[in-house]
Amino acid sequence: MKHDAHGWWIAEAGAPAPVPALAEEIDADVVVVGGGYTGMWTAWEIAETEPNARVVVLEADGCGMGPSGRNGGFLSSLWLYLPLLRGEHGEAAALALCKASVESVEAIGAWCEAQEVDAWHRAAPHLVVSCAPGQDGASAGAVNGDNVVPLTGAETRAVCDSPVFRGGVATRAGATVHPARLAFGLRERLLGRGVRIFERSAVRALRADQAHPEAPGAMVAETAGGRVRAATAVVAVNAASGQLHRLRNRLTVSSSHIVLTEPVPDVIEALGWTGGEAITDGRALLHYFRTTRDGRILFGWGGGRMAAGARTHGRMDVDPDIVAQTERSLHRIFPTLAGRRIDHAWGGPIDVSPTHLPAIVTLAGGRAWAAFGYTGNGVGPSHLAGRSLASLALGRRDDAARWAWIDPPPKTVPPEPLRVAGATVLRAALARSEAAAEAGARADPVSEALAALPEKLGLHIVR
Ligand SMILES: Cc1cc2nc3c(=O)[nH]c(=O)nc-3n(C[C@H](O)[C@H](O)[C@H](O)COP(=O)(O)OP(=O)(O)OC[C@H]3O[C@@H](n4cnc5c(N)ncnc54)[C@H](O)[C@@H]3O)c2cc1C
Repeated sequence: MKHDAHGWWIAEAGAPAPVPALAEEIDADVVVVGGGYTGMWTAWEIAETEPNARVVVLEADGCGMGPSGRNGGFLSSLWLYLPLLRGEHGEAAALALCKASVESVEAIGAWCEAQEVDAWHRAAPHLVVSCAPGQDGASAGAVNGDNVVPLTGAETRAVCDSPVFRGGVATRAGATVHPARLAFGLRERLLGRGVRIFERSAVRALRADQAHPEAPGAMVAETAGGRVRAATAVVAVNAASGQLHRLRNRLTVSSSHIVLTEPVPDVIEALGWTGGEAITDGRALLHYFRTTRDGRILFGWGGGRMAAGARTHGRMDVDPDIVAQTERSLHRIFPTLAGRRIDHAWGGPIDVSPTHLPAIVTLAGGRAWAAFGYTGNGVGPSHLAGRSLASLALGRRDDAARWAWIDPPPKTVPPEPLRVAGATVLRAALARSEAAAEAGARADPVSEALAALPEKLGLHIVR
């Protein structure tokens, strides 16, 4: 098995040669910090709707080399989050966000087609499936008309015949993608549109220039090699948002890890899993799994360790213990994979928000905005965030500039080191009690009590 910090998707797609780093002082209308999906969809939306606007993207590494290029490729709407959204924003605002998130799922598919980007896009329902009695009823609160429907055990096993599936729910609007092909395709189309992208250009300071003679308050983004001065700024740095002073108590950083089998088309055929459905189990620290166009099974686990100081590399990228646990779970859910090879394993940082929902926060007195908190569901929602961020950065007053996820009532996490220590203990207890429940047993009483604590405190660890 190859442990690879950047993951198989990026190797399969072939990372493009980097464009030069920023080495000058330039002016722009909007400066975007971060070249993942959020930053790039924002730039795309601006280029599409205001072709004369000057947009500059500054990326610390290469565009799409972070989680955007190496995630599970679940392109999901927000329908499964309806109960959480309702709790945070009320019924009408929650429904508006869910409906808009379906537009994003559809828009990404349409974009791939129109732009002739072969991102292995495949429309297919997304399922949440119970794999143990304790998971029965997971996501049942999201059932809503045609958008999210309940499934019996037989209906779930008709989609994918795992012996542990007991029933669940399905959401109709969804797709899977090849995340790196999508990210690199987007980067290439942006460059083709004349958007100025600078890679290996980490922004080390972003501030409002109050002394600017013509535009007091203009935003200045500084890298080691140069500076961009722009009317407005968008901060799209995902887990690294936790390193910003203003946002440091608005999220925690953990990791998600993936194992990928060799091509196993016969196993997939025997499971009857030929519809391309994306599936998660009903755990709080969830497993997620899908098939790929070349006949592999991709299997991920959101149960990785917490990162102190919002660190985004090291064990966030590859954690051998987490990989080993993920592999064991793969075989529990798919015993017919016995004897088959795992070819690749990798991980990446996840920006976990205390509400489990993404948010957009206004910074610098209304001259900059940051989007973060996708909590492992950012492939579709980052496109939606791009719509909001583009509207805000251009000063539009449309729906996208007013959705309820913009400046929600702030929910904070405890400061470090309490945050990492507390979350580490809680997550370990949760992992132990969820594993025990799957084996038909109970974990030790302390683990069980700790695992139940977040729910009692109204905290959303994951899901
Ligand atoms: C293993 C894994 C599996 C996942 N699976 C799924 C899935 O199946 N479906 C799903 O919806 N979501 C999934 N996610 C989450 C999803 O990948 C993210 O939510 C999404 O990619 C976020 O996009 P982004 O552009 O906000 O962040 P990123 O892709 O992290 O991009 C942020 C960029 O900012 C750059 N940056 C950071 N600091 C600076 C700086 N100071 N200056 C300049 N640039 C900077 C980084 O280099 C990076 O390229 C997964 C994540 C991981 C790690």
